[in-house]
Amino acid sequence: MPHQEGQTTPEGKSVLKGAIIPVTPFQQNCLLLWDEATKRGVVVDPGGDVPRIRAAIEQAGVTVERILLTHGHIDHAGGAADLREALGVPLEGPDERDRVLLQGMAAQARMFGFGARDVLPDRWLKEGDQIALGDHRLDVLHCPGHTPGHVAYVNRAARFAIVGDVLFQGSIGRTDLPFGDPAALLRSITDKLLTLPDDFAVLSGHGSATTIGAERDENPFLR
Ligand SMILES: [Zn+2]
Repeated sequence: MPHQEGQTTPEGKSVLKGAIIPVTPFQQNCLLLWDEATKRGVVVDPGGDVPRIRAAIEQAGVTVERILLTHGHIDHAGGAADLREALGVPLEGPDERDRVLLQGMAAQARMFGFGARDVLPDRWLKEGDQIALGDHRLDVLHCPGHTPGHVAYVNRAARFAIVGDVLFQGSIGRTDLPFGDPAALLRSITDKLLTLPDDFAVLSGHGSATTIGAERDENPFLR
């Protein structure tokens, strides 16, 4: 899990720190993640409320190097175009199978009565890609089902996974929205996320953080 305090591990390596910024009427967990030694970081899923995200970046004193998306839903990607423009950094992810959702961002926004612009990333991501952040690394897992191009980001050293809307504390992602696929979602959870060790923290797009072990043992949707 990203550290909340302290700057180095006992071995002297720089730690990753994280701050959750709840955005949009859907209370989506936008995540600011940074390397404490260099103060360089990434923003994951800027769904909206871009001024609030920029204030959190400033408060943490972080230089953002890139913006990452888990998937193409409005509450995760609705602020991506504006934040990219404001920061002048590349936007990366999700997998290209979410292209139609990102190209329909303005239409998604109109359905919910707020504004957003269509957006495409500077780089699509795919299973096995790696994102560097200082000395740290995020591994990309393609986890379709909630959307076709959904990805998760895993940091094995600090033992956490950013899972967007695939898995939640005591629940799983919706599959009743356009392009949802219940069988694919369950395969993504069982064949990808649940292969991680029990102590890995799970940072979801909504609600509280949990662990792989807690969801393996107690999640009623995985029985
Ligand atoms: Zn979603």
